[in-house]
Amino acid sequence: MPERAMITLSYSTRISAVLGCEATWLSEALPHSQLHGKRLEWQIYGQRFGIRNHLRSQYPQICPRCVHHEGYCRQEWDLSIAALCVRHRCLLVDHCLKCCGRLRWDRPDLGVCHCGAILASLMERPADPGVFQIMAAVESLMAGESQTPEYWPQEGLPKVLGDLSLDGLITLIHGFGANSFAHQAGRTSQFTRVARTHEWAEILDRGVLRLRSFVGAGKSTIQELAARVSQPLLMRLANDGLCFNDAQVGRQIFEALYGKDEARRLRANHSQLELFE
Ligand SMILES: [Zn+2]
Ligand SMILES: [Zn+2]
Repeated sequence: MPERAMITLSYSTRISAVLGCEATWLSEALPHSQLHGKRLEWQIYGQRFGIRNHLRSQYPQICPRCVHHEGYCRQEWDLSIAALCVRHRCLLVDHCLKCCGRLRWDRPDLGVCHCGAILASLMERPADPGVFQIMAAVESLMAGESQTPEYWPQEGLPKVLGDLSLDGLITLIHGFGANSFAHQAGRTSQFTRVARTHEWAEILDRGVLRLRSFVGAGKSTIQELAARVSQPLLMRLANDGLCFNDAQVGRQIFEALYGKDEARRLRANHSQLELFE
């Protein structure tokens, strides 16, 4: 396997022989793509994802304290959105503080960098309770459990978040938090580039603040939000949501932000988005 290769389904038989585990079990834990009609979907641990960079297949991230205490990596860390550890209230780490290199899959031990340094946790990071609510929902959904919808309004966040699948929740948060300023370009990179852990922490912070301001927003707030929210990501949710509920929520929010006329044009723009896969 070349250095920094992505470990995919094709390796499952060989790896399972080394680890002494079932190849079928292992194949679920390795990312793989599947074509659904014209659309490529990504799957891991039985969950489906519409945007490849929502998976961290090439760039692992861990909570060193969890690894130290539990001795294993949590499955949700394979998702880009899982930038914070709920247990230790700190950012996950995707790089080594000693050699500054990004974490690799082929490191000598879970908590050890390929340079030999023990991976250290970062300082506790104050975060909005809404961000931890998202982390908790991601953990539940990844484990195949349902969300607790009543928690969203308690954090001042839209109730409709409770209707979303894991893929839908990630896409919506990404759409609300991706842009750091209004009218920001960069539509291709939002679909292709895997953001670093600290960048996803910022996406979460911005996403929560903007989603909270969306609840009961007046005309001027809606205008501000419409300029800041990533329209391509929201369009992806509305047009290509992997389940009916995701698409419904996407369309509802799209129409609230951009109006009925723009929502009608949504379908026409649909084909252009496929260019960015
Ligand atoms: Zn932890
Ligand atoms: Zn290192």
